Amino acid sequence: MKIAILPGDGIGKEITVEAVRVLKAVCSMAGLSMELEEAPVGGTAYDALGDPLPESTLKLAKEADAILFGAVGGWQYDTLPRAKRPEQAVLGLRKHLNLFANLRPSIVYPELVNASTLKPEVVSGLDILILRELTGDIYFGQPRGIRIAEEGPFKGQREGFDTMRYSEGEIRRIMHVGFAAARKRGKKLCSVDKANVLETMQLWKEVAADVATEYPDIAFSSMYVDNAAMQLVRNPKQFDVIVTGNMFGDILSDEASMLTGSIGMQPSASLNESKKGLYEPIHGSAPDIAGKDVANPLATILSAAMMLRYSFDQEAAADKIESAVRKVLALGLRTADIFETGTTKVGTREMGDAVLKAL
Ligand code: NAD
Repeated sequence: MKIAILPGDGIGKEITVEAVRVLKAVCSMAGLSMELEEAPVGGTAYDALGDPLPESTLKLAKEADAILFGAVGGWQYDTLPRAKRPEQAVLGLRKHLNLFANLRPSIVYPELVNASTLKPEVVSGLDILILRELTGDIYFGQPRGIRIAEEGPFKGQREGFDTMRYSEGEIRRIMHVGFAAARKRGKKLCSVDKANVLETMQLWKEVAADVATEYPDIAFSSMYVDNAAMQLVRNPKQFDVIVTGNMFGDILSDEASMLTGSIGMQPSASLNESKKGLYEPIHGSAPDIAGKDVANPLATILSAAMMLRYSFDQEAAADKIESAVRKVLALGLRTADIFETGTTKVGTREMGDAVLKAL
């Protein structure tokens, strides 16, 4: 297993160190061999080499089987031209590696049920996976732009326009990832679209239903996106795997992540066709707490577990990491972001130590 480690900026450095310690420990327990190589990315890479995604880092990412990514960004880079901004590194990696499938699990651990803004009975025991298509849709469709309107009531004024577009192949590809994931989980899949209004989504719905016939063991349904947004806060536990396009997935995955209430707990994976993946916490570089040993490393540690599961098919090793995280929470250990009275506050390194001990 060749793994590229890209810690990035801010708390990215502190949290990836802990995830790497856990990854090394679990691999040595399971007798798996891995090769790790670190490279700069984001603001750190801009400072050192004048580019947020230097050639050398991209080459390493392309050669690796998987990438563990921390986070990028910082106030000092906010005034740079767009092409030099740290966030361009994430977009560049997605594009160059063709990472079309974005997996975001949202799990509410029993010990953290009070972190959610929703009632405990609505979210306790929640375990859903949102699968968002990441390289197509209205975010990439051409033509797009701002032009002078040639018709309509505001003819002669500026108008903005974008193109929603999905090919049948793109829809089939993401659906297969979804059904394969559902097989490893609760065996339910809901395809989310807006087929009642948009032609692209009409095709989405038809192709999703067609792919579903290849997976008779998975309970398939489809839902309009407006209803899905409502159902996610009304009764989120009705879902197992949700598969949707780039724009709807962008919105729904953020909504779902907040059901858990704790940004420092949420891992993610972005995969390509050959199961190469970029694994990262969903949060950013948190410059407000960087370098203080207070960041929660669990989202990055759980991202490493996803890497073992989705890129290397090491289900047992992934389970071991996830069980260790549950155990640490059950012991009452909490970083500041998830701390509540009656629990024990620990720092980033102490949390990493505790997960290692639980392993
Ligand atoms: P953020 O996620 O970095 O932080 C939001 C809030 O959550 C902050 O108060 C922060 O302290 C807290 N937080 C985040 N992660 C935490 C953790 N692991 N433990 C404890 N608390 C945590 O979002 P932001 O402040 O909007 O953005 C900061 C920078 O990160 C920006 O430059 C932004 O562009 C960048 N960003 C990068 C990524 C990425 O690398 N994929 C994603 C989102 C934002």
